[in-house]
Amino acid sequence: MSTLISNIGLLVAADGERRDAALVIDDGRIAWIGENPTAPAADDRTDAGGGCVIPGFVDTHSHLMFAGDRSAEFEARMAGRKYEAGGIRGTVAATRTATDDELLANATRLVAEMRAQGTTTVEIKSGYGLTVADESRALRLAQQLTPETTYLGAHVVPVEFVDDVAGYVDLVTGPMLDACAPQARWIDVFCEAGAFDVDQARAILSAGITRGLGARMHSGQLGESGGVRLAVELDAASVDHCTFLSDADIDALAAGNTVATLLPGVEFSTRQPYPDVRRLLDAGVTVALATDCNPGSSFTSSMPFCIAVAVRDMGMTPAEALHAATAGGAAALRRDDIGELAIGSRADLVILDAPSYVHLAYRPGVPLISRVFGP
Ligand SMILES: [Zn+2]
Repeated sequence: MSTLISNIGLLVAADGERRDAALVIDDGRIAWIGENPTAPAADDRTDAGGGCVIPGFVDTHSHLMFAGDRSAEFEARMAGRKYEAGGIRGTVAATRTATDDELLANATRLVAEMRAQGTTTVEIKSGYGLTVADESRALRLAQQLTPETTYLGAHVVPVEFVDDVAGYVDLVTGPMLDACAPQARWIDVFCEAGAFDVDQARAILSAGITRGLGARMHSGQLGESGGVRLAVELDAASVDHCTFLSDADIDALAAGNTVATLLPGVEFSTRQPYPDVRRLLDAGVTVALATDCNPGSSFTSSMPFCIAVAVRDMGMTPAEALHAATAGGAAALRRDDIGELAIGSRADLVILDAPSYVHLAYRPGVPLISRVFGP
């Protein structure tokens, strides 16, 4: 089964931008890219109506396996209260008492929201269960929605372990890892004051790597912690947040293979300063953008929103922001089959109801996603 997408006003292809283009999808892969007038015949045809075609967004950071609502916390924060990592514990309590059906229905709804906004690949973390059974359950359910599942038993120390953090690290690197590793591609840790320190993060990620999981990390959200350099040292695929970075962190990222994933929805929703993306890009660091969709610090599922904020408030060009939300995300998942449109790559793509991807930032909050192809 082949599909021709014709009359593409602007195609953002891997080898550059093309005007008046067309492409052919065959068996879920891109089989042909060229000029619209020379397009070959196909079994099926979609007219892009002169709209822009971009790769589907790759959202590499989400916490969708949760229950409960933290709008009151958001309201209090907007009234002046500072964000603290401990708010996660409220979601943990709600998630533990939710049924499988409730958790899966909520996450399914959010994945559908993401797709309607152009996201074709999503990573989903555990991290609101924090027991062997609850973390394992979250990953088992997440696997029904994406192959990119991340074990985040080390999200925060649960209340029952506040006086025995070492004991909780033993659990995360022992029985909980045993139960979760078969259902996860990645292991993650929140390396931050109020969560886990660098030594604990090293123990947690190393244990996961030994079990065949890829490493990722949350760090630099609330301050500099040394986590960023640890992520690079352990060859983590990505270190996420990167709002507070030292010169040594930037040097390490520039020299290593770890992507810096920025989560502007968090800064927007917590009124924190935005990360200094120009410093990263000027140093040659690969940058990704993700939503960090979660009920506490960033309850947006919208990559177009994150792109708009990255352009408006972080100083990225629209092209840089689009690249970070697609190819950058693919790099942060160490995938070469998604995030760009080239012959042979997956046909995960979006037709915009706009002549250019610039409109994603130029028209913030406006639903410009006309059609989504992909999984
Ligand atoms: Zn997160």
